[in-house]
Amino acid sequence: MLGLYLHIPFCAAICNYCNFNRGLLDEGLKRQYVEALLQEIRRAAEPQTPADTIYFGGGTPSLLTAGEVQRIIATCRESFLLDAEVEVTLEANPETVNLDTLSAYRAAGVNRLSYGVQSFRDDELARLGRLHSAQTARDALALARTAGFDNVSLDLMMWLPEQSVEHWLGSVDALIAARPEHASLYLLELYPNAPLREEMARAGWSQAPDEDAASMYLEALDRLDRAGYEQYEISNVAQPGRRARHNIKYWQDGEWLGFGSGAHTTRAGVRWRNVPATMDYIRRITAGGPVVAERRVLDAGERVEEALFMGLRLTAGVDLPGIERRYGIDVWQRYGPELARFVGAGLVIHEPKRLLALTRPGMLLANEVMTVFISPAVR
Ligand code: SF4
Repeated sequence: MLGLYLHIPFCAAICNYCNFNRGLLDEGLKRQYVEALLQEIRRAAEPQTPADTIYFGGGTPSLLTAGEVQRIIATCRESFLLDAEVEVTLEANPETVNLDTLSAYRAAGVNRLSYGVQSFRDDELARLGRLHSAQTARDALALARTAGFDNVSLDLMMWLPEQSVEHWLGSVDALIAARPEHASLYLLELYPNAPLREEMARAGWSQAPDEDAASMYLEALDRLDRAGYEQYEISNVAQPGRRARHNIKYWQDGEWLGFGSGAHTTRAGVRWRNVPATMDYIRRITAGGPVVAERRVLDAGERVEEALFMGLRLTAGVDLPGIERRYGIDVWQRYGPELARFVGAGLVIHEPKRLLALTRPGMLLANEVMTVFISPAVR
């Protein structure tokens, strides 16, 4: 079934490490944007096509009013055949929510929240320019429970400036104590012009050495295993039955439609991306023009590469007979000679004619392993 992704590009403040498609909140602009988004969904309507996930991503989708969320979900419902068990996720920043909005989101049909917590230490949150504290994050989770949410995910970021292994594991323990149904652990990636880079240089903050980053990852996952969470993807763990159904479409060669500025779509081997600038997006929709900035038909080789790249992110790995059925390619015959050294080093598991998967240490070196699938011409 299809997934529906809705991009909400507004934030109350811009974090110093952020490389997403977002801008500062302007209420008037947000109102126009929501109208444009509704129009884009209606234009793409296929009332007979089933969809089983809706994902509000950003930016900060929790800056939408409950009325706006309700209208967007209703428009998705009119435009697609929503499954009775549709998963509706909304990304939220802890400082933006209160009991009234959360209850209204729940009533509007949102049944999963994903909070950008990032850290349970106030000093780390301040270095990242986040607007919430550790206590605000705990309170936001408690409010979600009171509002009736039984499916909540928390994001944490590791390898932050000045973060020791012990500090990081303190945040992991705090997350475990909070008992969310799902958690995502991301490594801080400092893009070339990130303001945080300058702040780090000015303040003399540094990141822990690489080997500490590896221990952070491995020890966090051990603790989460012991607490009953199952790792199912490089960065994601969940309690049994609580995996993120929307995100799994990205990793399992699924299909989704993306709406909003900069949103990506993948469908039937074709990929497209909307124009990224919010004003440009609104203007084009209002004028009845196209919003697609780039459209590419993936050839068979690219589709296989993509299926391998994404599939290897999952702990379940890549289903080799499945790839052969879908794309007519014997993965081991094509890539085996290069993959064998990774199998030998304990980074990759190969079960002949069955599956290919990364081991946990292999997940740390996923990028290296995956270069095998990139054709030598572009490596
Ligand atoms: S809240 Fe999220 S999207 Fe917004 S600036 Fe911060 S990291 Fe970026």
